[in-house]
Amino acid sequence: MIPSSDPGTRSPRERLDAFLQRVRQMQTLAPVMRYARDRSTPKLVRLLDSTALQGDTLTARDLLATCVRWNPCGLYGCCLCGRKLKRRAKREALKAITARAGGIPQEHEVSWVTVDGPTVALEASEDTVRKALKGFRKKIERAHSDHLRDTSWYGFFDISLRGMMHWHGVILHPDQSRSELVDALDLHFPEDRQAYVEENWHKRPLMENVDRVLDYALVADRHVPTLKGKPIVDADTAGLIARRIVLLQYMCQRGIQGIRLKLNMKSENHWKSDVLHDGSGEEIEIPMDFKRLVLGRKVRGGNGGDLL
Ligand SMILES: [Zn+2]
Repeated sequence: MIPSSDPGTRSPRERLDAFLQRVRQMQTLAPVMRYARDRSTPKLVRLLDSTALQGDTLTARDLLATCVRWNPCGLYGCCLCGRKLKRRAKREALKAITARAGGIPQEHEVSWVTVDGPTVALEASEDTVRKALKGFRKKIERAHSDHLRDTSWYGFFDISLRGMMHWHGVILHPDQSRSELVDALDLHFPEDRQAYVEENWHKRPLMENVDRVLDYALVADRHVPTLKGKPIVDADTAGLIARRIVLLQYMCQRGIQGIRLKLNMKSENHWKSDVLHDGSGEEIEIPMDFKRLVLGRKVRGGNGGDLL
């Protein structure tokens, strides 16, 4: 701790000690701050090297250190690989949502929801993490089948730096009002703000909103906690980040398969050759700018359509 006594009354020795303490603290935090400013894999590796690693965190560090574009490590928490997985997942999600809704959903029939789940110990084993996730998934599925059978869910599980599992996603509820949805969620998730509809989302254009929420749910490399854009870090942060990368990987399994949750998303509508068709093969009109977002057209035609 830095002495909080009035600097004017401190001896030169005390002032020097306080200064050195500050320097040491900044040295510990520097790799985290550097990574927070520029989330790149080399900076992430340097951050991990500033903390004691063992077991799977050490393996993850070594994988990240050898990750290059032509030989990707495949870790979801990797800055390079995670972003690639995200782009693909986002396109799939947008396609599925527009197909299910028969176009762009109306503002009143779609809500963005967060559900908080169990907290696992940071040193939890792969088995423990998978079991916790399975239980959480079941709980959401039960809420859906008991009271929200007509709604459609699409979203992703995530885990906080402190090990709390949660789910972010979109719920389509064309036949139910938002308040009915909230009531059903409250019934199944009775703790305060355990499951909630994000407020103010409707003030933004819907398209931007769907885009943004999917972005948020899928940013795997969002490791450094921030408050109003400023990183909040302490001496533990680097170790927690190392651990979260491993916990995320336990959850993801292959690609992002393990963290996706889709409920009642089947639809007769389908995307084919960049066009959304209904069950009888008729085209469903989709605004061009949304199409661009869904299909990522401006990056098409490159090397096998790989988006980097
Ligand atoms: Zn990688």
